[in-house]
Amino acid sequence: MNARKTIAAIALLLTGCRSDGTATNTPAIHTPAIHTPSIHTPSIVVLGIAQDGGAPQAGRFDDPRWDNPAQARMVACLGIIDPRTGKRWMIDATPDFRRQLTDLARASAGPARPALDGIFLTHAHIGHYTGLMFLGHESMGTLNVPVWVMPRMDAFLRANGPWDQLVRYGNIELRPLAAGTKVELGDGLSVTPIVVPHRQEYSEVVGFRISGPTRSVLYIPDIDSWDEWDAAGTRIEDVLQTVDAAYLDGTFFANGEIPGRDMTGFPHPFITKSMERFAKLPPEERAKVHFIHLNHTNPALMPGSDAQRQVEAAGMHLAEQGERSPL
Ligand SMILES: [Zn+2]
Ligand SMILES: [Zn+2]
Repeated sequence: MNARKTIAAIALLLTGCRSDGTATNTPAIHTPAIHTPSIHTPSIVVLGIAQDGGAPQAGRFDDPRWDNPAQARMVACLGIIDPRTGKRWMIDATPDFRRQLTDLARASAGPARPALDGIFLTHAHIGHYTGLMFLGHESMGTLNVPVWVMPRMDAFLRANGPWDQLVRYGNIELRPLAAGTKVELGDGLSVTPIVVPHRQEYSEVVGFRISGPTRSVLYIPDIDSWDEWDAAGTRIEDVLQTVDAAYLDGTFFANGEIPGRDMTGFPHPFITKSMERFAKLPPEERAKVHFIHLNHTNPALMPGSDAQRQVEAAGMHLAEQGERSPL
């Protein structure tokens, strides 16, 4: 099934949210389609598509997106919603957590409480876990929100402030993840961590396979290179065959996008390189690919850009904030 067709029928969030999470006047949801009660199947909802620093990024005072919030994008994050139970989960807790939690609640059309049924963390880089701070004493003061983590991530959160306080006060309840081991969320929904090569500074780094009753989605926001994964024994093409849609690291479009820097050694696969690699795949496999986690310098963030057209012409997609993919 072409996920894009399904997605096209559903409202875009087009949130005018600055990278510091400050909501703007732009309404988060433009059409009521996202609340349509006929949508009974679980789905993922894309809550943000930018790299850890957001778009625009701190310190880039000349970025026109500061004055055009409709073009700003929040940090990469997926929500999982199950309209059958009203439950909702997040993959990663980003610096844009406040807005993203609201968008997720609205998309789920579930009860207001609990605000969240759990969070799955990929790794300990700032765009992926620091949103946990909003669960603490100074903000929501939640009670035992399940946070699924790999072992090093678990140790990191327990040993370092302010995160250890979330554990001690019972705002969050850390639950163990093991590579390749499925976490059942009930009614045919599950989440499975997949270890990927990426700078493992404070924690392991994982992507997730999110499976539902009918479809499954792969989420790999950060990976150093596809070649390194090959060397570790996993080909992305093989994994792609086992899912219906994939949201993959599209941090940089091409070498040269950061003026004056040779980006050859940057630890992310350029979108141009991924497109070259995936060009060999049949169209239905290529159509599963949605690039996400775009750096603020990535020209593909700009609507109508040549970079965007190149991706679409290659039979692939750019993730859009607000899009859904059924599970
Ligand atoms: Zn990241
Ligand atoms: Zn990272």
